Amino acid sequence: MATQKRVISFHYTLTDSSGEVIDTSRDQNVPFSFLEGSGQIIPGLEKALALLSVGDTRKVEVAAADAYGTVDEQLMVKVPREKLPNSAELQEGDQFQATGPNGEVLLFRVIGIEGAEVALDGNHPLAGEDLTFDVEMMAVRDATPEEMAHGHAHGEGGHHH
Ligand code: ZN
Repeated sequence: MATQKRVISFHYTLTDSSGEVIDTSRDQNVPFSFLEGSGQIIPGLEKALALLSVGDTRKVEVAAADAYGTVDEQLMVKVPREKLPNSAELQEGDQFQATGPNGEVLLFRVIGIEGAEVALDGNHPLAGEDLTFDVEMMAVRDATPEEMAHGHAHGEGGHHH
C-alpha cells in the first residue's frame, strides 16, 4: 500500500518580479487541484501550500532556483538560419523542439535574428524569474485510490479524462 496522499485545491495569482500577472486561477472561478508529491506544481509552491489550512491566504515568494530554475547559458545558442525548419519565414517567438546538450528534448524559442544567424533560447520562459504567488487554500482531502494510481487529481480543477 502506498502512503496516503492528499489532493490540495487552491486559487492563485502568479506575478513576476516586475509585478506583471502571468497567470491566475481566478478567471476560471475553479481552484486548481493537484495531487501531493506528483510534481504537478513547482516544489517551492507545494512546500508552502503544505503548511496552509483551508481559508488561509498567503503571499508565497519562490526564488527562481525553486521555480523554473536559473537561466542556463548553455541553452542560449546561435545557429545558422538555414539549419532551422521553415527558415525563410522564421520570426522571433517561434518555437521548436531540439535536442539539448544532455540529449533531452527541449523547446527552443527564437529570441533574435541577425542576418544568417538565429539566436535561440532553450530555457523555460520563466527561468531566472523570482515568482510571487498570491494563494488561497480552498480545500484539502485524501486522494482516492484511482488518483493515487494515475498520479494526478480528478474532478473539479483537476484532470479530466
Ligand atoms: Zn486520472
